[in-house]
Amino acid sequence: MNNNQDSENIAAFKKDSLDQTFRDSVATISKEGNRNYIAPQQPKGKLYNRRSYFSYFYLILFFTLPFLKIDGEPVFLFNVLERKFIFFGVIFWPQDFFIFAIGLLTFLVFIILFTVAFGRVFCGWACPQTIFMEMVFRKIEYWIEGDANQQRKLKAMPWNAEKLRKRSAKMIAFFSVSFLIANFFLGYIIGMDEVGVLIREGIFVHFGTFSALVIFTLIFFFVYYWFREQVCLIVCPYGRLQGVLLDKNSILVAYDYVRGEPRGKVTDNTPDKGDCVNCHACVRVCPTGIDIRNGTQLECVNCTACIDACDEIMDHVNKPKGLIRYASENNIAAKQKTTYTWRLKLYTIVLTLLLAFLATLLITRDDVSTRILRTPGQMYQTLNDDKISNLYNIKLANKTRKLIHLDLKLENIEGEIKMINPIDVPKESYFQTSLFVILKQERLEKRKMKIKIGIYENGKRIETVTATFLGPAHKKEHHEN
Ligand code: SF4
Ligand code: SF4
Repeated sequence: MNNNQDSENIAAFKKDSLDQTFRDSVATISKEGNRNYIAPQQPKGKLYNRRSYFSYFYLILFFTLPFLKIDGEPVFLFNVLERKFIFFGVIFWPQDFFIFAIGLLTFLVFIILFTVAFGRVFCGWACPQTIFMEMVFRKIEYWIEGDANQQRKLKAMPWNAEKLRKRSAKMIAFFSVSFLIANFFLGYIIGMDEVGVLIREGIFVHFGTFSALVIFTLIFFFVYYWFREQVCLIVCPYGRLQGVLLDKNSILVAYDYVRGEPRGKVTDNTPDKGDCVNCHACVRVCPTGIDIRNGTQLECVNCTACIDACDEIMDHVNKPKGLIRYASENNIAAKQKTTYTWRLKLYTIVLTLLLAFLATLLITRDDVSTRILRTPGQMYQTLNDDKISNLYNIKLANKTRKLIHLDLKLENIEGEIKMINPIDVPKESYFQTSLFVILKQERLEKRKMKIKIGIYENGKRIETVTATFLGPAHKKEHHEN
């Protein structure tokens, strides 16, 4: 038997001896079936500090981005109402839905790949829900109500002046921050300029926008004041996907049960006692109320608070840090190093291909998209000099930030195009007009034929559009009939 097998057998034995009764209950639901409000102790330590710095960067970005513009347009905009989307300054139109879908697919594969390798790192470090909950609202709560014990005391005390003062202060603070976030959230949807117009011109002139602002504020207030960790446990689909995405090589916040078990008090002198002193410090700081020593759980958002808490305890009892740390099951059980598995390789290949495809689509994306269709209900007109004309509707979308003038030319047949109006398409707009295509009758090979129309900007062809031309039945067709 080699060393690896030895370690795995010991690990399996220790894992089997772990108490499994935690599976019978949910930390956020009481025995009576009511909501158990979690009051986690404020984390402190190296990782919490790093997460705080990261959150400052993230928050600065969140509150700055809506103000950044390129050529007068926001760098990011998700205007679902007008179906206008801007990513990194590039405007996406409904016509670009395909690119958008590929972009979303790439993002999804990226998330899967990232999760397979690093578990829920995203949840702990970058998810807006965690950042706002743990780094904004929770800090306000600690500031007003004190640490976990003081919060519990406040909750248990009857309504008196102190409770009334603290609870009202918390409500006002939470509502104000929710209102602030709602303004910026709305800014990402309709643009900060529009939010500015609402502020300048008043709520009665822009009642629709104001209603959206109130709804967003109430939703944020509800989520951060009351719903909290339930978003991660019940609403977020990402957490639920963990069961399928994670494997034994995924790196997660994990308890080293091989080193920690059997747990026991510091004063316990049993010779084979593990390093866990059963102090529950890791449980007290957990914002979802779980005990990470029970293994990977859906509720764990990888916030790393338990790592900091346990490291502090290990320092006190003179044991090496890292009893709870970022590690995979194989790192812990088989003492294996992290490997680049076949699953990771496959995901990397798919992701690379998708990224290449997405880049190609973005590079080759047309600035103008054109549709030319024969005007419904119109046949052809016979003109005096043996010519046939067809009437068309042309619809253009100018995706650029400048006015463009376009000319049209027949590409595959000799003839003439007569415009009703010149094609001057304002920036980022749709434009619609009509045009006649006039062909000599002798040029018509059949009753219904395909014509190609070139779209030119400054003498350079930027697109070719195909349309159908109708004419009288051709002699050849008569013969065939
Ligand atoms: S178990 Fe640890 S990492 Fe997971 S949510 Fe709780 S404190 Fe955060
Ligand atoms: S903080 Fe560390 S030592 Fe204390 S109970 Fe948790 S794992 Fe054990």
